[in-house]
Amino acid sequence: MPIYQYDCAGCGKRVDVLLRRVDPDARPQCPQCGDARLTRVMSAFVRGRTARQRIEEIDQTAVAARLQHNNVPEFARWARREGAQWDEELGTNYGELAERAEAGDVKWEHIDADHGFRAKAGERLRELSRPERSPASGDARDAARGHAY
Ligand SMILES: [Zn+2]
Repeated sequence: MPIYQYDCAGCGKRVDVLLRRVDPDARPQCPQCGDARLTRVMSAFVRGRTARQRIEEIDQTAVAARLQHNNVPEFARWARREGAQWDEELGTNYGELAERAEAGDVKWEHIDADHGFRAKAGERLRELSRPERSPASGDARDAARGHAY
């Protein structure tokens, strides 16, 4: 289950929020004070997780559902967020797809992107699954690879 870290505007604390499933529309609340004005932060914990762990946490069912959705503004919002998280890591093009969807592009793009996403995520996982790599060297190599995209 993914854990995200947020800065709460209600109590001013930095809090961990456990989300039971990956839902782009989820409105998490502060576990300390119940306020919903939370700003997501990339915590040291999140950064410390390997790319493999993050890729394995991708909810492929949610990805497919979003991609087959006909609601363009919703798709664009979702694609933009996925793009911010994955375009550099996986070489996907969700940021661009968000723009094209809003410009009135057609549905096959979404399905094509779905296949592309699964293929690229699987490819990346196989790369990361190679043996004889310590987490430290893996992170360093991931960082170097990230710049190449
Ligand atoms: Zn709070």
